Amino acid sequence: MENMQNNSFATCGGTFFFDKPEGIKIIPGNVQSTRIPDTKREFMELKKQELLRQRFTDPAEKERDSTCVICGDKNTEAFIFPTCRMVHCFACEDCIPGILKFGSACRFPGCESDNLLKEDSEKTVEQHKRNWVENGGTTAYPLAIDLLTLAMPEFQAESVLLKRETTVTLKNIALSEVLLFKLLEKTKVVVGENVSVFGNFKGEDCIRAGTEFEGLCLLRPASFPRVQNNVFFMENIARMPKDSIKLGSVRKLELCGYAVNILPKLVLHEENEMEEFCLDAWNADHFSETMHVEDNSIRLGRVKKLELKSHAINILPKLALHEENVMEEFHQNADNAEHFSEIICRKNNSIKLGKVKSLELNNYSVSILPMLMLHEENEMKMFRLRIDKTKYVSEIIHAQDSSILLGKVKRLELKLFGINILPKLVLHEENVMEEFYLDPDKKEYVSEIIHAKNNSIWFGKVRRLELKLFGINCEVGARESYDIADRGRVYFSKASSHTPLLRPDVVCVFITLCNLL
Ligand SMILES: [Zn+2]
Ligand SMILES: [Zn+2]
Repeated sequence: MENMQNNSFATCGGTFFFDKPEGIKIIPGNVQSTRIPDTKREFMELKKQELLRQRFTDPAEKERDSTCVICGDKNTEAFIFPTCRMVHCFACEDCIPGILKFGSACRFPGCESDNLLKEDSEKTVEQHKRNWVENGGTTAYPLAIDLLTLAMPEFQAESVLLKRETTVTLKNIALSEVLLFKLLEKTKVVVGENVSVFGNFKGEDCIRAGTEFEGLCLLRPASFPRVQNNVFFMENIARMPKDSIKLGSVRKLELCGYAVNILPKLVLHEENEMEEFCLDAWNADHFSETMHVEDNSIRLGRVKKLELKSHAINILPKLALHEENVMEEFHQNADNAEHFSEIICRKNNSIKLGKVKSLELNNYSVSILPMLMLHEENEMKMFRLRIDKTKYVSEIIHAQDSSILLGKVKRLELKLFGINILPKLVLHEENVMEEFYLDPDKKEYVSEIIHAKNNSIWFGKVRRLELKLFGINCEVGARESYDIADRGRVYFSKASSHTPLLRPDVVCVFITLCNLL
């Protein structure tokens, strides 16, 4: 039994689910023997019985009347075995080698390529044993079926094979994420009413009766695997209605690659609170299905940390967070403009993020900043832009000055080229900034801001201003910090080089800020 568990991808009661090249085999406990046969004839006998059971309503009668198609020996006189899976004829052990010389063992139309007799008579006892274990303790060739309404396994009496052509209907059922994904990858799935998905560990039941959110929340939360067969998976996803699979209580939801496409099909409880929500789509096919749904229609409930990697950033306008959501972290990082193919066409202030405590946009992802709309009473603990190369500001640099409303911000960091975004930002007029941090250490980093007029950037009150690696000469630094010493502090870190890297008027821009303290 242990072997069966190891070979199966899911279990339920005594029923085992196997992932085989030919499809998904479901083998109920009642057809498994507990003892491994030890002779070749014993294996062949078991297989004959299985085939007889599958093909005939009265298998015992069929067996009683069977004779060898060559010599006419009766079932009682010799061990006889079917010549094909359809059990059209039988052959005795002595006649089998002779039959196999003619190629196909059964002359019936449709059986030309049936090699049951050849395979089974030529297998060694070790090969029989290995197959027996792989088949979950049976010699079965489970019957391939066209239609299956997945139900609790106790109603499943016979072994079945679910092939790519098999239509599997899900209705009033909860199933494990592993079983759901296997079905989506290997069969045609029709999702009906009251279908939900939960997480389970190996050995736990993979099917449960359909349940409402309350019951679902008592089960393990689902965590979705990677998709192996994306062609079938995507066909199934395209057929599946939106919001058709319920998820219980989920603390962390992570979808990668093709699995991202299942997102619009999932329904979360509206009061669900996620610690972390992460999507990773590294090519355009990984999110194509999510583009068909309306904006703000994928309801996520409350989310503390939201991360959309690579192309997944395009899904942001489709998401809807709980009205009172307070996000701890919204961090995006992107180096590739191609990842923004969809979202870049969005209007300014069109994507509602609600309240966000820490907002960090790196490199090309700063391009979405003008599109984001924060809650008007938002108070950010940290706002950080880090831009490594000038090409990453190609989009945002077109935003109008003072057009990006940030509300209240405690710590503001503009790293490297990020400093050029400064004129675009507007803070709440009563804002008191704890820390304002700039670290452009090369002249090229200030390529844009260098053109800003003095006194044109208003920043409210700042308690601590840190201008790192600035390379300004210490005389200016010391004098200015002295001037404002009683109202706040300005830190000028010395650069390694003694040569001023910035023009004095750029320094003036910042000094103007300080004087507003
Ligand atoms: Zn014979
Ligand atoms: Zn046949």
